[in-house]
Amino acid sequence: MSDKEFINIEKRGMIKVGIARMALFPISDLNALYDKLVELIGPVANKAFYLAGVEGATTFGNPMFDRDILQKNESGYNAAVEAYSQAGFGNFYVKEFNFDEGTAFVSGTETFEASDGQRQIVAQIRSNGHCNHSRGVFAAFMRLVTNRKDMECVEVKCEALGDATCDFKIAPRKVLEREDFIF
Ligand SMILES: [Zn+2]
Repeated sequence: MSDKEFINIEKRGMIKVGIARMALFPISDLNALYDKLVELIGPVANKAFYLAGVEGATTFGNPMFDRDILQKNESGYNAAVEAYSQAGFGNFYVKEFNFDEGTAFVSGTETFEASDGQRQIVAQIRSNGHCNHSRGVFAAFMRLVTNRKDMECVEVKCEALGDATCDFKIAPRKVLEREDFIF
């Protein structure tokens, strides 16, 4: 997938990434939105961002997998994560993938959601990581690849919290619950 095919300025005021319409959205706006949500509804804001990531990635990924532009296997998962990286959300790589177990490990640096230095506030309320939109996206891609709805994702390290990378563990919900992650 070349950059030229992947990102297209279709006409004035309309950018397409793959088949999804996108707009450039400043990190300061995203963080303001996040902070306002936390102010208004508390820690459940994490879940709202997570579910938004799931929803968005499903809308983006569904037609791509249905049309075999992306395949329902490890290479399809890698390509979906590559597309998310190229869209500007961070320098992500799939480090491990096991189709039969439904597990994967994704690591990223310079991630969009962790790129504001004032994220310490979030550290106090985080449950399963800070980069909640990305968590949702990686879970959704696994759901699409495996045709399983029980796939979830937790962030086990985060640049916003001082770690060198943002690390994500994707697995069936039961596996993560056994490891004491709560959704
Ligand atoms: Zn992070």
